[in-house]
Amino acid sequence: MKRRELLHSGALVLLIGAHQIARGAGIVAVRIWPAEDYSRVTIESDTALKATHKMIGSPPRLAIDIEGLDLDPSLRELVAKVRADDPNIAGIRVGQNAPHVVRLVMDLKQPTNPQVFTLAPVAAYKHRLVFDLYPQNPPDPLDALIAERMKELGTSPAEPLPAPSVAVTPAPPPVVAGMSNTDTLGDLIAKQIERATVMTRRPDSPPARMPVPPPKREENVAVAPPPRVAQPASTDRLIIIALDPGHGGEDPGAIGPNGTREKDIVLRVALKLRDRINNSTVGGNPMRAFLTRDADFFVPLQTRVQKARRVGADLFISIHADAFINQNARGASVYALSQGAASSTAARWLANNENQADQIGGINVNAKDAHVQRALLDMSTTAQINDSVKLGSAMLREIGGVGRLHKPQVERAGFAVLKAPDIPSVLVETAFISNPEEEAKLRTDAYQNDLANALIVGIQKYFSANPPMARTRSV
Ligand SMILES: [Zn+2]
Repeated sequence: MKRRELLHSGALVLLIGAHQIARGAGIVAVRIWPAEDYSRVTIESDTALKATHKMIGSPPRLAIDIEGLDLDPSLRELVAKVRADDPNIAGIRVGQNAPHVVRLVMDLKQPTNPQVFTLAPVAAYKHRLVFDLYPQNPPDPLDALIAERMKELGTSPAEPLPAPSVAVTPAPPPVVAGMSNTDTLGDLIAKQIERATVMTRRPDSPPARMPVPPPKREENVAVAPPPRVAQPASTDRLIIIALDPGHGGEDPGAIGPNGTREKDIVLRVALKLRDRINNSTVGGNPMRAFLTRDADFFVPLQTRVQKARRVGADLFISIHADAFINQNARGASVYALSQGAASSTAARWLANNENQADQIGGINVNAKDAHVQRALLDMSTTAQINDSVKLGSAMLREIGGVGRLHKPQVERAGFAVLKAPDIPSVLVETAFISNPEEEAKLRTDAYQNDLANALIVGIQKYFSANPPMARTRSV
């Protein structure tokens, strides 16, 4: 196909100077990262690749022509790397379409919005050609939380949940106090319970709120059965803790001297903390953990923040185990956001390092809404920071009982992931993975359990001193 035809057919042409394209580029590696949010296919090569792509109708598939490439065994590996449980990709076929042109066809499990982009060499990576396959109807994090909660209450959602009205503007309106945002989740749960009750009621029965004559209950079969669940009033305040395991997918995070990857350790700690949170209450209200990622895939920094705001999280806890230049550095530390100078050189260094995750993980810098999202996160956060420091201090006191602390007080720096203006947010460095002793400890179940225990106690102590406020109900 000629270039003009490709443009006409709506295909994206990645403009790379012809001089950058070598004939017969060498493939360094191929990787697939399946996830509900999106599935990613990466082709890493020693020189830049040029690709054109086109979506083809039903069944949905993505056809890609990669120039400057000959079919080689490592490309064929892609075929075998597709997992049966990949939510987006059903299979990949590869073939030599023309001399130096390889055609990939990705068979998709659902209608998909593909993003195709290249990444220049960074960190340990050479050139990357990336295909991100986003489902056209992405899963809503609220739905999962609601379904889970409804199950606990013994009610199943009466029908698929409507798309929440806030879907277009993902973030709830910012508030000064940090806690009293609109209770999207509570409202949806209340609506679902109401609907489930209506569905179980007989058509000729009176509305639930009509007084029922008490003595005749046994004979009056037309009377609606008492709701099997508690009234919405007792369920409308779930305390939601956003847990944010750092890195993931193409971004391994720091790597210990013995090869331990930060992304794997922090996910394990987050999953342990999730269990503890889901078994806890605050002032009689159930706590619920929401993970910004629960598998090994990359989530851009701003997306992490947006996800937490989408579910109206009460707290945001990012979990890390970074490396430091100095191998002897050790101990845990907790960070809050600084809008100005960092509290120490080390804190600044770490924040800079952490903020590079998007470059290593790989984001499409041409994606449309990036600027809007950034502006949203540059709002004032003074109240948020005050609360974050309180939360961080409560956590530090508990972590100090488990292991050594790097610094006894909460440090501050400009971490991009802590910028939700309305959610107290901390970043926990569980230990330095660059320290061989700490690396060994981080791998153990025992230490991961100790950390999760310390963090849940810290969260509970924070809430006992700073009780979550009732949310403003929008109905
Ligand atoms: Zn990290």
